[in-house]
Amino acid sequence: MTINKPNSKIKRSDTKGKPVGWLEKAYGGSPVAVMVIDAGHRVYYANPVALSTFAEHEIIGWPVFDLYEDTSPGKINEGKLARFEEIADGEFKAKTGSGERWFSISAVADHESGGLPQITLFIRDITAFKKKENLFSYLNEAAASLAKTRDTPGALELVARLVVPRFATWFTIDRLTESGLELLMLKHEDPARIAWAYQYRKKYPPDLNGNSGPAVVLKTGKPGFVSVVTEEMINAVVTDPAQRRDVLKIGLHSVIITPMWADEKIIGLVNFISSVPGRHFDAEDVAFAQNFANLIGLALENARLNEESANEIALRKNSEEKLQFLTDAIPHKLWTSGPDGRATYYNQRWYEYTGVYGFETLRDKIWDSLHPDDRSLAAVEWPEVIKLGNPAEIEQRLMRHDGVYRWHLSRIMPHKNNDGDVTLWIGTSTDIHEQKVFGMELAAVNEELTAANEEFVAMNEELVAMNEEVAATNEELASANQEQAITNAELMETRDRLRKSEKLFRSIALSIPKSLVTVIDKDHRYVMIEGDIMEKMGYDRRDYEGKHPADISPEQYQTDRGLYERVLKGEAFSVERRAPAGEYYLVHFVPLPGDRSEVDSALIIAFDVSDIKQSEEKIAKLAAIVESSEDAIVSKTPEGVVTSWNAAAERMFGFTESEMIGQTIYAIIPPDRHDEEPRILARLRRGEHVEHFETKRMTKSGQLIDVSLTISPIMDKQGNIIGLSKIARDISAKKQEEQRKNDFIGMVSHELKTPLTSLNGIIQIAAAKLNKNEDAFLAEAMDRAKRQLKRMTAMVNGFLDVSRFEAGTMSITYQEFDLAELLNEIVGETKMVTSTHPVNFLGSGRVHIYADLDKISSVVFNLLNNAVKYSTKGKNIDVAYQVTKKEVLVSVKDEGIGIEARDIEKIFERYYRVDDPYSRRVSGFGIGLYLSAEIIRRHNGKIWAESEPGKGSTFYFTLPLIKGI
Ligand code: ADP
Repeated sequence: MTINKPNSKIKRSDTKGKPVGWLEKAYGGSPVAVMVIDAGHRVYYANPVALSTFAEHEIIGWPVFDLYEDTSPGKINEGKLARFEEIADGEFKAKTGSGERWFSISAVADHESGGLPQITLFIRDITAFKKKENLFSYLNEAAASLAKTRDTPGALELVARLVVPRFATWFTIDRLTESGLELLMLKHEDPARIAWAYQYRKKYPPDLNGNSGPAVVLKTGKPGFVSVVTEEMINAVVTDPAQRRDVLKIGLHSVIITPMWADEKIIGLVNFISSVPGRHFDAEDVAFAQNFANLIGLALENARLNEESANEIALRKNSEEKLQFLTDAIPHKLWTSGPDGRATYYNQRWYEYTGVYGFETLRDKIWDSLHPDDRSLAAVEWPEVIKLGNPAEIEQRLMRHDGVYRWHLSRIMPHKNNDGDVTLWIGTSTDIHEQKVFGMELAAVNEELTAANEEFVAMNEELVAMNEEVAATNEELASANQEQAITNAELMETRDRLRKSEKLFRSIALSIPKSLVTVIDKDHRYVMIEGDIMEKMGYDRRDYEGKHPADISPEQYQTDRGLYERVLKGEAFSVERRAPAGEYYLVHFVPLPGDRSEVDSALIIAFDVSDIKQSEEKIAKLAAIVESSEDAIVSKTPEGVVTSWNAAAERMFGFTESEMIGQTIYAIIPPDRHDEEPRILARLRRGEHVEHFETKRMTKSGQLIDVSLTISPIMDKQGNIIGLSKIARDISAKKQEEQRKNDFIGMVSHELKTPLTSLNGIIQIAAAKLNKNEDAFLAEAMDRAKRQLKRMTAMVNGFLDVSRFEAGTMSITYQEFDLAELLNEIVGETKMVTSTHPVNFLGSGRVHIYADLDKISSVVFNLLNNAVKYSTKGKNIDVAYQVTKKEVLVSVKDEGIGIEARDIEKIFERYYRVDDPYSRRVSGFGIGLYLSAEIIRRHNGKIWAESEPGKGSTFYFTLPLIKGI
């Protein structure tokens, strides 16, 4: 407000109340300004202090409201004064000779004088106090806004806007560095002036060694202050006339230079310049400037700490992301769980394998992915393992997303705290399907996995810490947004975590068997390189980290460069590499997104897959052999589900591979032979191999073919049969050939029968006629001829029987008879013709059976014959029988040469004869036992032999007692 001359003056005598003299006496010497106003609110009396405040004006008779402006909200105090009410410490502003000033006014009403009260005003100049208060509220405002700013440029801009133009015309902030002052901020309202000032600073950098402002401030640590800068002063300090001209352009009217303190150290200088004529800094301004500078120092330091910690957090996040990428990039399925065994984490492999996405969903469904046959074991084993807290491994089948079960080796390792309590479980599941199915050696893999698991456990502490950190980081980041600066201690912690995170990254990298993990930055420089391969080859990561591949091996870089470029463009891919030493590597390239989710680095993981490659090669070779084989090669599960089917099998049976895989093998087994499968499996379980087992199989079109089978079990490490491999050879051609041979033998035998019958008749007649003849030779000759003829007839009959069997035309003629009687008769007959061996029949009673008498007789004859043939002279031969509820068991026991175990099954095969010196001298065709076996089989009985080589053999056969079977 400005003071105008009053248009009307009131005489002092017009005023009632205490006279001026009294007032002068009372207030004339007061150090406080005192004014008395009359009923018209005009100044009636002013003491000397009050008068001097408005030195340039005469104030007596002036309306008091023209002198002071009420600054209270709604001008309450002015209202009170107008109503002649008392006020206490109301704040008023006034324009006085020395500019704008602030006053605190208290009004006391004097009612004694009657009529309207006389008001005495006690006025205190509170300008200095007010300014201070203003500056400090200003400082507060600055501090509050600075605290919110988390980056340096932002903080400085804020500071500058608070200062210019309200407090100063020019404002600069310099940071003290080793090489001098670094200008952080230069502010003026006019951008053109700013540009000019930058040029000035470039031309005349502040001299820190001289005796001028900045140097002195830095030396003393105290603010420098020139309230009124005169041209003379400038001339004295600036000697260069050109610079002098420039300095004058700045408009230096008043200057404050303050040191900027942080942590008891000067970190820079802050410069305030006023170019406004009459705006001169005073002591309060200096105090404010110093406080303000300190605040800037703090803000800068905070901003720096914030930036640093933000960087660290970003770095660490990056490291966590890398860890994530790493756990996802390893080929093993990895999971962790709490002490109760409940999963807390699955790596990406699990989701890919099961096709189940979402952590919770997978955790709920994981049990279902276990093969039903493996569940009972897992249901018992896992809880036991969890309870005992011991490491464990288990082989189990896990269902892939497409429903196929694959064998996995699952391992679980506990991590315990100092009290020995399990705090975490780390589990891995490794696909061992190929190894398992091909019965390959797993030991190496196991060892590696054990090592890997142990490593995992070893670094578990970090992992746990890591989990906590991840949570902590989130909290931190959240609170960081609200709260003020991060303290140094927190920063240290962050660094600590970063180190841990990096350590964890390295130990995971190291724990991946046969691998090399590299991180490159966007310039292809090696940021991190770690892996057991590196150690094995004797390389040191320090020779690589921070270096550029081009500096290490330009040739190699030439080949890799394209791949680096691809991955840094954001493409994830894998390549196969062959090292000069012959190892195979599978190299995964994984782009790593940085802060703004642009790819700024890449993870390269190389796995030495030489072993896998070799076994792949082996498998491939094997597969090639299998595919090119003329024999059908088929593998199947113990339950008979076909798991592989080669080209020959396709040709032989007419079913394609896709038709058969997953189908049951019974598709090619004729219905009447379905019981073969369980029998073979039982034999294999006993550890026997089944070789050259001749049987019939059925093609897709229903045609029966003869095959010779060789069946081998596929076993796991524990010796459990997990599959069967079957080689089938088509022997139809051989069979046909045999058939022709049989037909021929049958035909010849048949043709021989007629002449033999006539010969038999002739010899009988001749023998009868010779009966009376004296010639002993002739009689003897007839006898011999009869015997030879009998043998010959038996032989021809035998052959005829074989061919009848083969042709399926041999008929069984059932009749009821007493087997005991038959045995007795046969033994008697044998005794008559055999003088070389004692033959005994041990038995009495009757055994009625229903069978073909002739054929059963021939079986017994045959066994007795063999007993004689295959034992030396004088050895006993015992025939006996035993009756059980359902059947009769007949045995023929000799004390002869015996039969080796390897021959014992085969002697019942057609034309099979044991090849040893003794048997070779004995005549025979190897059809007797074959025919016997066929006859017994047709009677639903069983036949077998037990023998001890050198000691003798016993042949047994059974026949059912119940008739008509
Ligand atoms: P073969 O006409 O050769 O005797 P078999 O079918 O009757 O024909 O017998 C088959 C083979 O079994 C014989 O060649 C012989 O090696 C063996 N064999 C049969 N019975 C006996 C026995 N009691 N003791 C030892 N070996 C025997």
